[in-house]
Parts: sequence; C-alpha cells; structure tokens
Amino acid sequence: MMYRPHFFSWVPADGLRHASTDAKPFRGYPTGFVVATLCGHQLAAENTDLAWFWETCRTCDDKAHELAKTPTPPAASAR
Ligand SMILES: [Zn+2]
Repeated sequence: MMYRPHFFSWVPADGLRHASTDAKPFRGYPTGFVVATLCGHQLAAENTDLAWFWETCRTCDDKAHELAKTPTPPAASAR
C-alpha cells in the first residue's frame, strides 16, 4: 500500500508529550533515550505508563500539525 505514516513520533519527556522526527526503535524510545524534539530541545524520553498522561507540548503539537498537513498551493488561500 502507498500509505505513508507520519514521520514523527510522540515522546514523553520532561513533563510534556513532545514530538520528534528521530528514528524510533520498534518498541518506542526507551527511558533515558535522548531525542531532538520538534520544539527544539534535546530531551531524555520517559517511557512510562504515567508519562503518556502528560500534557501535549504546544509547540510540538503545532509543528506536528504542520508536518502532517498536505502542502496546498498558496494561490487557493491568497485572497
Ligand atoms: Zn515539545
């Protein structure tokens, strides 16, 4: 199939759920695994059940949405 999954992953780190484009190991980023987040930080992942209940990082959320968006021709929204 041609379905292409998003090329970023969510990763809980430093009290928030961030997104990262770093290659994710099959079972997820292990705790202590340092990833480059979309909000521009280098953070150590916390792969615990509790960490997934943390709030989403707003900056990562915005950037993830930008990445996920299909690029549209600017002409459509220019006026
Ligand atoms: Zn973030």
